Amino acid sequence: MTTIHLRPRTEARLRAGHLWVFRDELQDSPSLPAATLVSIQASDGTSYGTGFYHPTSRIAIRLLATHETNIDTAFVARRLRAAIAHRNRVLPNESMRRIMFGESDLMSGLVVDQYGPVVVIQMLAAGMDSLRDCIVEAIRQEIPSVECIIERNTARVRLLEGLEQRDGILFGMLPKMLELEEHGIKLLLDLEGGQKTGYFLDQKLNRRYVASISHNRSVLDCFCNVGGFALHAAGGGASNVLGIDSSAPAIASARRNAVVNGFAAVEFQQANVFDLLREQAVAGKRWDIIVLDPPSFAKTRSAIDRARAGYAELNRLALKILENDGVLVTASCTQLVHEPMFFDILYTEAARLRKRLRLIHRGSQSPDHPVLLGMPETQYLKFLAFDVVGD
Ligand code: SAH
Repeated sequence: MTTIHLRPRTEARLRAGHLWVFRDELQDSPSLPAATLVSIQASDGTSYGTGFYHPTSRIAIRLLATHETNIDTAFVARRLRAAIAHRNRVLPNESMRRIMFGESDLMSGLVVDQYGPVVVIQMLAAGMDSLRDCIVEAIRQEIPSVECIIERNTARVRLLEGLEQRDGILFGMLPKMLELEEHGIKLLLDLEGGQKTGYFLDQKLNRRYVASISHNRSVLDCFCNVGGFALHAAGGGASNVLGIDSSAPAIASARRNAVVNGFAAVEFQQANVFDLLREQAVAGKRWDIIVLDPPSFAKTRSAIDRARAGYAELNRLALKILENDGVLVTASCTQLVHEPMFFDILYTEAARLRKRLRLIHRGSQSPDHPVLLGMPETQYLKFLAFDVVGD
């Protein structure tokens, strides 16, 4: 196995538990093929274990193990077993959950989601891509009830490691529609056609929170996708609910979900949220609860200012049409917009509109997306609820 040497004084991050070595931290940067297994050595001779090397990506090495080991089906199965054990402790009765969250489960670049009998995998890096057969085999070993394994490998980050976009069934047969449940809400999911791996699992507990505050209130769910928050609001007894998304297939799916649950007080509309909020302000419409769960606004540092402006505008537009005693439920999944910055955006917009906001709930990604302390990149979801107080 080739040994890669680190420059002096670059190992502090690795010592703290981070799993990436950037190219400018290497003593030399050999032209080995992508996904070559290498051993990592600090300038003082300390070994940092084994990782996958990439010859061009800014992330030159992704650490896999702190010691030298064979990376094979048994290794993947061991990691998967540990990951499933954690989910069985924190989300024991959930049929839909993330069972492997990349770096936080010490498998940099691998995401594994379970949807009842179907498992969906995403490989976001060349090393994990090269382990595809081992991953499928390990899933079949560790989840004997699995009926189908599919890959959803169309994430754009794959391009950074020279990987193609690829979707398909790796094992078994995929039912066209899967009927699953989240907190008693029925969901018909189209895992082939849906976004990401099919459903946004990270908001699981936050959807339950919205259900808990919705009784007898009107709820606007912005960026509703297949209806997650809107359906939970209806389940929680909301007086009327409107879900908005720009994706036609997502809206069609949300409408189907309202029907299977027998919810009459929920409507879904295909629209751009920014336009709709402006139109509703002009029309004098008001809501008791507004949920904002937009997609990520920035993937790179250079886009942070634009993301900030996007969040400011979105939250301002929502605050304008919120009832006086209403609740703004606002999320941000942009990892680079950290929580203090998100608070600052809300502070500024509330001050501008002279609204006094009071934080009544603070959430994050659900516990099947744990955060590796030494790796801030694994913490990305902010979820805040504010009520408007005072007259
Ligand atoms: N709240 C959802 C997840 C939202 S994901 C849940 O609980 O499952 C973000 C969604 O925003 C996607 O469905 C995407 O189609 C939608 N979207 C992105 N930009 C939009 C825009 N400008 N207006 C409306 N929807 C948008």
